[in-house]
Amino acid sequence: MENILTTEKLCKDYGKNRILKDISLEIPKGSIFGLIGRNGAGKTTFMRTITGLQQPSSGTYTLSGVKNTDPKISRVRRRMGALVESPGVFRNLTAYDNVKLQYINLGLPSYDSIPDLLKLVCLDDTGKKPAGKFSLGMKQRLGIAIAMAGDPDILVLDEPINGLDPQGIIEIREMLLNINRSKGTTILISSHILDELGKIATDYAFIDNGKILQSISADELSRRTRKAARVTVSDTPAMCRVLDNLSFEYEVGSDDSIDVFTDINVTKLVMAAAKEDVEIIKIIENDESLESYFINLIGDGETIR
Ligand code: ATP
Repeated sequence: MENILTTEKLCKDYGKNRILKDISLEIPKGSIFGLIGRNGAGKTTFMRTITGLQQPSSGTYTLSGVKNTDPKISRVRRRMGALVESPGVFRNLTAYDNVKLQYINLGLPSYDSIPDLLKLVCLDDTGKKPAGKFSLGMKQRLGIAIAMAGDPDILVLDEPINGLDPQGIIEIREMLLNINRSKGTTILISSHILDELGKIATDYAFIDNGKILQSISADELSRRTRKAARVTVSDTPAMCRVLDNLSFEYEVGSDDSIDVFTDINVTKLVMAAAKEDVEIIKIIENDESLESYFINLIGDGETIR
């Protein structure tokens, strides 16, 4: 798949501290790419760097085929919308006027698309209400509308659901899915609320202490975190025949273990195996959540909530 953004050994130092360490990532066009990491992992620094708010200390990135060292980068970056840190919303202006101001900043020739944009973020009924009187969720959605001005190819959102109540989180989630599906906009989104990203992301990168621990598609991740029973047996080929006869879905893990993906009836399985002279040595259930997957990955057992 074509990538809209790639980074090659991207590093960022603050003084003597290396905050981003050799970050090499590929963000597929049209994806909802979740950047997952706990506080201080480097998510904001990464987003500030690829949005041009700060320069990399070393390494490069390529946006829509243009390297960051190429003078054409500022032109391509106009096709990138970003909401990094708090939304730059003017409190005394209405939703419409806040978005209009961004249209003016970007030099967009017509304001005709503003009502549709406000509809997309469900702020089309806020009339003359100034943004200062908006709820946190409404302000976030307005920030996203501002980032969407000019219909960017990629939207970069740093923790857009931070601090929102469950209803606010659902609204942002639905909205992002709608933007991604209706416009094909690639969305790079960071969060430490893992299970929320789990509902929308098509791809993930796990970041810790400035390093990418793993970059993985949602399909692959759901395969790895899929509910399975790991069955250790005395004779793997014979056990495969047993499972075939039972029409159970499975995958051979190693010489003596098989992951069975069906909700198994243990008695039925043991009896069927015994008929084939297969000894079942142990059965362990694996039902990993996105959060426990990440905690296992960082390997220190700390929670990231
Ligand atoms: P959070 O979820 O808390 O926002 P984060 O993953 O976005 O965390 P960053 O904000 O990128 O992490 O911070 C990464 C590290 O860089 C932290 O140790 C932070 O203290 C440090 N840092 C961030 N900005 C600066 C700065 N301007 N000068 C010096 N150090 C900084």
